Amino acid sequence: MNLNNNSKVCLNCIMDTTDPNISFVNSDICDYCNNYYLNIKPYWNWDVSDNLSLVEMSEMIRSDGKNKEYDCIIGISGGLDSSYAAYVAKTRMSLRPLLFHVDTGWNTNQSINNIKKIVDGLGVDLVTDVINWEEMKDLQVAFFKSGIPDQDLPQDAVIFSSLYKFARKNNFKHIITGSNFSNECCREPEEWGGYLGVDVKLIRDIYQKFGKGTIDSLPLLDIFLYKIYYQFILGMTIHKPLNFLPFELKDAEEELKLTFGWESFQHKHHESRFTRFFEDFWLPRRFGFDKRKAHFSSLILTNQMRREDALMRVSKSEMSEVFLQQEFEYVAKKLGLTKEHFREIFDLPKKTFKNYKNKRNIIKFGAYLMRKFGFEKRFFR
Ligand SMILES: [Zn+2]
Repeated sequence: MNLNNNSKVCLNCIMDTTDPNISFVNSDICDYCNNYYLNIKPYWNWDVSDNLSLVEMSEMIRSDGKNKEYDCIIGISGGLDSSYAAYVAKTRMSLRPLLFHVDTGWNTNQSINNIKKIVDGLGVDLVTDVINWEEMKDLQVAFFKSGIPDQDLPQDAVIFSSLYKFARKNNFKHIITGSNFSNECCREPEEWGGYLGVDVKLIRDIYQKFGKGTIDSLPLLDIFLYKIYYQFILGMTIHKPLNFLPFELKDAEEELKLTFGWESFQHKHHESRFTRFFEDFWLPRRFGFDKRKAHFSSLILTNQMRREDALMRVSKSEMSEVFLQQEFEYVAKKLGLTKEHFREIFDLPKKTFKNYKNKRNIIKFGAYLMRKFGFEKRFFR
C-alpha cells in the first residue's frame, strides 16, 4: 500500500520503508528481525525453564498479597492478550486478581460480552471506570484537528492513567499485563501513530489549541515516567506472565472460546470501535501506515504466520469498503461532527507531535533507561 519505487520490504518479515527509520542489517534483513534474533529470542526461554519463572512470579505476588483482598490488578479490554492474562493469573498462577476496565465510550458489544464472560467464568471482581464522554469527545476532536497521526493517544492516555491511578490509590504492588513477545515482539515505529507512552504536555497543548471546554475530569498521567517512578521508587512491579508460558494466538483464542465462550476478533485491537477505525481507515488512508505489518511481522518471527499469507492480508483492507464507510459516518456522528466536516479534517495538512509542545526528550531518556536495565527488550524508537 502506498509504496513508491524506493520502497523496500524485509525479506524475513514484512516491515518496510514506510517506517522511515528502518535499516537493513545486511541487504535483506531488517533491524526488527535482527533485534528479535539477537535480543529477544535467546532470552525468551519459557520452553526450557519448565515454568519455573512463572512459579516464582506467582509465589512472590501471593506472598505480598497476604491479608489483602486481592493479590494484583489486571487491566482488561476484552481483547485476547488481556483476557488471556486474566485467565492465566487465576488458573495457572492461582492468584486473586482484581480486573479493571476503562470504558472510553468505544467498546464494541463483543468486547463487553467477552469481559463479562471472563469475569463470570473466572469468578473474579471487576471495577469499571466510565470516562466522562463529553470531555473524551472534545479531546478526541481536538486531536483530529491537530493533524497528527497519533489519534489513539487520548484513549491510551485515559486507559493507562486510570489504571495506574487506581492501582496506586489502592496500594496494589503488582500489576499484571497481557504484554507479550509472542504477538508483539515487532513493535510498530512511533511514526506510525504510536507515540511512546502518555505525554500530558502534548495532550494539554493540543487541547489548548483545538479544544472547546475542559478536560479536568479525565485521568491523565505521564505514564512512561510514572512507570519508572512507580517501579523504582514505590516498588510496584509490572509482570508479563504471557512471556513465561506457551502463548500462541490461535491456541489461546481457541482455549478462551472453549472455556468461556469468549469470541475472537477479526484483528488485533478490534475490541475498540475507535481503534479499529483508526488502524483500518484513518492511519493507512491519511498517512499510509499499516500497523498490521508490525502485528503480522511479530507472528512471522514467532512462527505463527507464513510471510506469504501476511503479504496477502496487507494487500487489502481488513474490513470491507462498505463497512469502513459506515464506520466513518458512525465515528463522525459520535464525535458530534458532520460527515463533511470530518472529511475536511481528514484532508487537513499532516502534522506530527513536533508541531506541538511535548516532553518527548524526557520520555526517550526514560525508554533508554528501561532498555538499559532490561525492563524492555523491544524496540522503541
Ligand atoms: Zn524484518
